[in-house]
Amino acid sequence: MIVFENVTKTYKTNIGLDHVSVKINKGDFVFLVGPSGAGKSTFIKLILKEIDADSGSIKVNGTEITTLSNRKIPKLRRSTGIVFQDFRLLPKMTVYENVAFAMEIVHMSSRAIRRQVPQVLSLVGISNKANKYPDELSAGEQQRVAIARAIVNNPTVLIADEPTGNLDPDTAWEIMRLLEQINLRGTTIVMVTHAKDIVDKMGKRVIVIEKGKIVRDDVGAYLKEED
Ligand code: ADP
Ligand code: ADP
Repeated sequence: MIVFENVTKTYKTNIGLDHVSVKINKGDFVFLVGPSGAGKSTFIKLILKEIDADSGSIKVNGTEITTLSNRKIPKLRRSTGIVFQDFRLLPKMTVYENVAFAMEIVHMSSRAIRRQVPQVLSLVGISNKANKYPDELSAGEQQRVAIARAIVNNPTVLIADEPTGNLDPDTAWEIMRLLEQINLRGTTIVMVTHAKDIVDKMGKRVIVIEKGKIVRDDVGAYLKEED
C-alpha cells in the first residue's frame, strides 16, 4: 500500500527524513506523531509527490512513485485524499458544489457526480446542508464536507493532517468516529495529530517521528509508560 525503503529527504541544511523505512498496509489506521519539525509534513508530501526524495524507494499501491512520470501524477493524486486542520473549502461554492468540484476536476461524468455527491454527503451526515455555503456551517460540519470531498473519488488512502486541530473535544470525537467508519469501509488512513487523548483512546498503530527518524512504531498510547 505505502512502502518507504531507506527514504531520505533533506532541505539544504535541514533534515526532513533520514533513512526512513516503513510499511503501511491496505486498511490500516495509523497515527503519525512527533514534535514540530520532526518530519511529519515531509512524510506526507512525499506520499503525495508534492516533493521528491533525495534517495530511497516509495511505493504507493504497488507503484514506485520516486521515478513516476509527470503524466502519471494525476492518477497518484486521485488515489489519495487529504483533509487539513483548516478545512480549505471553497467559500463561494455550496457544500454540494465543493464536493462535486472534486469530481469535475478529475473529469468524472455529470451522471457519476449526480449519483455520488448525494451518497457521500449522506455518508458523512451532512445531506441537509447540501445547499449551504461553508461560512454557514459549524467547524465540525465544515470538516465533514472536507472529508466528503476527500473521499468522493474513492481514494485508497485518506491523509488527515491534524483534522481535529480546530475542533472542540466533542466535535473532534465525532470526526474520529467518522474517520473510523471510513477506515472500516477499507480506506487506509494516515492521521497526523498532536491530540494525545485521541491517540490513546483509539488504540491504533502509532508511528512516532523525531528528527527525521521513526523512533517508535507499534499499537498503543501516544506516550508509553517509560517515556
Ligand atoms: P507543521 O508542524 O504544522 O507540519 P511546519 O511549521 O513544520 O508545520 O511547516 C509548515 C510549512 O512550512 C510546511 O509546508 C513546511 O514544508 C514549511 N517549512 C517548514 N520548515 C521550513 C523551513 N525551515 N524553511 C522553509 N519552509 C519550511
Ligand atoms: P513536521 O511536519 O513534523 O513539523 P516538517 O516535515 O515540516 O516537520 O519539517 C522537518 C524538517 O525539515 C524541519 O527541520 C523543517 O524546518 C525542515 N523543512 C521542512 N520544509 C522545509 C523547506 N521547505 N525548506 C527548508 N527546511 C524545511
